[in-house]
Amino acid sequence: MSHTVEILSVGTELLLGNIANTDAQMLSQGLSELGLNVFWHTVVGDNLQRAEEAVALAKKRADIIITTGGLGPTCDDLTKNVLAEAFGKKLVFDEGSAERIRSYFQRTGRPMTDNNLQQAMLPEGCTILENDWGTAPGCAFESEGVHVIMLPGPPSECRPMFQYRARPYLLSLSEGVIASHTIKLFGIGESSMEAQLRDQMNAMSNPTLAPYAKEGECELRVTAKASTDQEAQALLKPTVEQVKKLFRDKVYGVDVPSLEHVVIETLKTKGLTLGVAESCTGGLIAKRLTDVPGASHAFKGGIVSYTNEVKERVLGVPPHMLERYGAVSEEVAAAMAEGVRRVLDCDIALSSTGVAGPDRDDRDNEVGTMFVAIATPMGTHVRALHLGNRPMRERLRTQTASHAFDLARRYLSGLEYEH
Ligand code: ATP
Ligand code: MG
Repeated sequence: MSHTVEILSVGTELLLGNIANTDAQMLSQGLSELGLNVFWHTVVGDNLQRAEEAVALAKKRADIIITTGGLGPTCDDLTKNVLAEAFGKKLVFDEGSAERIRSYFQRTGRPMTDNNLQQAMLPEGCTILENDWGTAPGCAFESEGVHVIMLPGPPSECRPMFQYRARPYLLSLSEGVIASHTIKLFGIGESSMEAQLRDQMNAMSNPTLAPYAKEGECELRVTAKASTDQEAQALLKPTVEQVKKLFRDKVYGVDVPSLEHVVIETLKTKGLTLGVAESCTGGLIAKRLTDVPGASHAFKGGIVSYTNEVKERVLGVPPHMLERYGAVSEEVAAAMAEGVRRVLDCDIALSSTGVAGPDRDDRDNEVGTMFVAIATPMGTHVRALHLGNRPMRERLRTQTASHAFDLARRYLSGLEYEH
């Protein structure tokens, strides 16, 4: 039987426009991956009567109701009362949840007031969804043919509560198994990726193909439903292969966490070392590399050469080169990578230099003009980037770092640097 879902978000702040309903967005994405049809998003304020009306309507038209918000300890937190009432259930005190709430307050060193224990009042007979990310537990129950799931409002709680608590509950409702693979791409825009896949995506029902974009990268999640994992994998395989063939060297991995993970893992496999010299990224390349567990086996270190003085004195970039071409140039990017490769005595070196804004540099280079370089035993290669002068300093730096990683993974996989 196919399910229809209504997401019911409770909170006056949402209606006032103080915050956007990002919980509903996150849930919709997650639910569609499970093959569940979300037909309605409803938002209601912290108002008893209107909340009751919204629940009555949801109960009539959906067979899964997922609520967000209003689970906290204050009197405007009315979600549990309204849902329990609508399904003729009493709220009962759950000692296990009370204990978890007490120990949460002990652990975080915050004082607890009596109304915090309100959060341990839960609909009788429900499945408790333990909240390891905050205090208010969520809950789920089935009544009158409708499944109700209540999740806390703060996104930092709602997201993991969905992922680790609600998702397994929902999976148990559907027969069979759901399996997915995530294909990661770099160097292609989301719209161009979608355009190439649109017809196919629309025609597919099992597996399904869902695109995501973030920070200059794209992902394609392929999800299949079958009675066994083996069958689901067999359904996934041809689609994964087809996508890999279509986007060729733009695919940097399947089910891998990030570009920098791929770089570190490949370096480790090949027994090679890496060093970096950073100007415009100010240490971000090193930071992202060291976010990868076990990076120390491959990453030697980095130099943040923000001023010309450091570029000259530490990396040995010739003063006449800086004079002639300026710090934001192909020549200097190359000299920085070669310099740090020598100074840190590593197999491969990456560098970055550019204008992250908000102002142009002293040579009138536009914001978003970036150079990333790679120096290897096979020579040096520079990639010039024009990332546009959007005023997003942080985003420009993130994208620049990703381009540096892209050069490294291309070198390490024997691919052409540019396509
Ligand atoms: P708490 O225990 O913190 O009171 P709660 O489950 O009662 O949690 P609310 O009081 O409704 O949740 O909201 C707490 C905060 O979570 C809000 O101030 C808001 O910042 C955020 N929030 C609530 N609902 C949403 C939503 N739908 N989307 C994004 N953020 C939300
Ligand atoms: Mg609250």
